[in-house]
Amino acid sequence: MKLARLLRSLCCCALLGRAAAAEWDVHRFEGRDYVTLENIAAHYGFPKPAPIGSVAPAAITAIVPVAGAASATEFGITTAATFAAAAHTIVLDSGALHLEVTPGLSEVNINGVKQWLAFPVRIEDGRALVSRLDVSKIIEPRLRPELIDGLEPVTTVVLDPGHGGHDHGAISRFGFEKDFALDVALRARAQLEKAGCKVVMTRATDIFIPLEERPAIANRIANSIFVSIHFNASNSNADARGFEIFSIAPRGVPATNDSVPSERDLRAEPGNSVELPSGALAGSVFHALLGELPMVDRGLKHARFAVLRLCERPAVLVECGFVSNPAESSLISSSAWRERIAEAVADGVNNYRALAGTGQRPKTLAEYRRAHAGRLQLRDAATP
Ligand SMILES: [Zn+2]
Repeated sequence: MKLARLLRSLCCCALLGRAAAAEWDVHRFEGRDYVTLENIAAHYGFPKPAPIGSVAPAAITAIVPVAGAASATEFGITTAATFAAAAHTIVLDSGALHLEVTPGLSEVNINGVKQWLAFPVRIEDGRALVSRLDVSKIIEPRLRPELIDGLEPVTTVVLDPGHGGHDHGAISRFGFEKDFALDVALRARAQLEKAGCKVVMTRATDIFIPLEERPAIANRIANSIFVSIHFNASNSNADARGFEIFSIAPRGVPATNDSVPSERDLRAEPGNSVELPSGALAGSVFHALLGELPMVDRGLKHARFAVLRLCERPAVLVECGFVSNPAESSLISSSAWRERIAEAVADGVNNYRALAGTGQRPKTLAEYRRAHAGRLQLRDAATP
């Protein structure tokens, strides 16, 4: 099947399919469907966005480097020059929902958290356009996870501390990633069991387990979810810091860290059967982490790591900070800090369990921050 046709067939989402034809103003560019931002704003009850031309353009901070790539046109990505006149962030807020997009860029902010669309927001005739695939696979499920169809109730959480045995993972002056990850996972297990949840560990000691055996454990347990716990490191940037979380890239969506889309994005992996629940789990855990701990938001990302690709249950891989960053590695070496990470991960998992079990919308970063501010005010009021 030709790539463009296959991509088109992937774009037929429930959201746009259900909507009346007149409701969506669909535009075609290079074989892909786009809808206008005005259309998206009207659908979600956001105020009408200002026309692009009325706002002074700001500098572009990042452009996918695809100029001249053979497949670029087919994927609807044009050169930086096309977008250079119009890069500014458009903020849409309805009180309940929040969306920020920047024409020319894939990076967006959904409900307060950084994430990436499959394709950059286009600008045509002074209007911003978002791909239909992005509306169905990323914007809709992340804005309103409570409307995702077919979430299965969760009875078991499979916790997967990264690395182990001869595989140390990243190394800091305080110790190995494998040991920090195991410690956080054991603490999260205690938290989850306290909340009445069954927990299975892929490893509870310092042993090596091949990558493909880890998701297989969750695949054998009905109504389970899979949470892999890691710490990050950068060889080239000692300043790199913050939390990030990965879920399987939906079919047709490039991995966030790939600079260009590829044929591989179109392959159906076992993990694609749960790509929307996995994204919702990633959102629940990430909002809780950032809501509970004042760390840098590196974003909700997509990847095709073996543990995500091969997992047929909702699955995420969370990177709980950088052992290569002096300040963060010092924090990570503290058992009190690791306990806070574990509590936040467990909280996010419990929010997903409530979503899957009763349709309760997971708590957002803004809701965590409001709760913290309320607690601080109470504490201040109690101080004589
Ligand atoms: Zn790791």
